[in-house]
Amino acid sequence: MKQNIAIIGGGASGLFSALQAAITKEILHKDVSITIFESQETAARKLLITGSSQCNITNSASQENMVTHYHGKEKEVDSILTHYSVKETIQYFKHIGVPLRTREDGKIFPSSFSSKDVLHALLKECKKYNIHISYNSRIEKITHNNSSFTAFTNNSKITSFDTVIIATGGFTFPRTGSIGDGYRLAKEMGHTIITPKVALTGVKVHDNALHTLSGLTLENLAVEITNNNWKNGSLLVTHEGLSGPVIINNSRYLNTGDTIKVCYLVDKKGVRRMAKELQKEISSLSQSMGKVCSKQFSQHTLFLLL
Ligand SMILES: Cc1cc2nc3c(=O)[nH]c(=O)nc-3n(C[C@H](O)[C@H](O)[C@H](O)COP(=O)(O)OP(=O)(O)OC[C@H]3O[C@@H](n4cnc5c(N)ncnc54)[C@H](O)[C@@H]3O)c2cc1C
Repeated sequence: MKQNIAIIGGGASGLFSALQAAITKEILHKDVSITIFESQETAARKLLITGSSQCNITNSASQENMVTHYHGKEKEVDSILTHYSVKETIQYFKHIGVPLRTREDGKIFPSSFSSKDVLHALLKECKKYNIHISYNSRIEKITHNNSSFTAFTNNSKITSFDTVIIATGGFTFPRTGSIGDGYRLAKEMGHTIITPKVALTGVKVHDNALHTLSGLTLENLAVEITNNNWKNGSLLVTHEGLSGPVIINNSRYLNTGDTIKVCYLVDKKGVRRMAKELQKEISSLSQSMGKVCSKQFSQHTLFLLL
């Protein structure tokens, strides 16, 4: 008997899971029909903006190392990478006409550094496997009984499915179509939702003492993210607050109302920096920034050293 699979969301996950289902169906000689429902008029709008539109697909770090970057989810990530390794990812993309290239920092991109090429190849594969993509189809409700699921767009019933995969993404960049529908749909079907938390972002700062320095990157300093938890790295002062790697990589630990302390006296290794060294930095900055800005920077430096 023919099996029907519905995939809600035509982003990176939706397209990839549709293709994996199609490949499995061929291997097992099953009669399966796969439909992707995408709320936008085009697929994977977020994928197109990833990695500054260059699309950082994976990383060359070892599996042991990679799992340590997922904040207590080592087991889950290890299991995923054991089922589908980085090597398999590289081989798959090469197979569909997207050879990859490893950058010096270990990040792996398409050789063309173009996210469009990645999307184009995925869509071409979907066509090859007769995967139907239904655009402008936002799924608003899913019901299920013991043997099947029924999905609804704007309350009009759609065919029943044997399997439903929710691949609607999270909340970030809602203009790409990811508006958090998946959490609601999954909850309505009885799943437990862990409240999502913001991560990998800059922060807005109320009473930002540094705002006059917006645009400036300060290397080699320490930032107290939470009580006595100091992180080292470079900090970017923005118009609205703070960003740069030290904030972006640690924003997951910040909550509204927190106070962020910045210390110029610690280097990347946690070694205190000498006033002489700072003085040198200020004079070199004054040459590149001009007098007014450097005066503001000196004032802030003194203020923050107090
Ligand atoms: C600026 C930026 C840069 C990034 N850079 C990288 C990078 O370089 N490398 C990397 O690995 N990751 C990167 N990411 C993260 C990456 O983009 C996401 O992890 C990835 O897009 C998630 O894919 P997804 O398919 O799960 O969700 P999404 O890409 O969000 O796709 C979900 C799709 O579902 C559709 N949809 C939503 N609700 C419904 C509904 N009810 N019915 C039908 N369709 C629906 C949406 O329109 C959307 O097309 C970046 C993210 C951002 C925001």
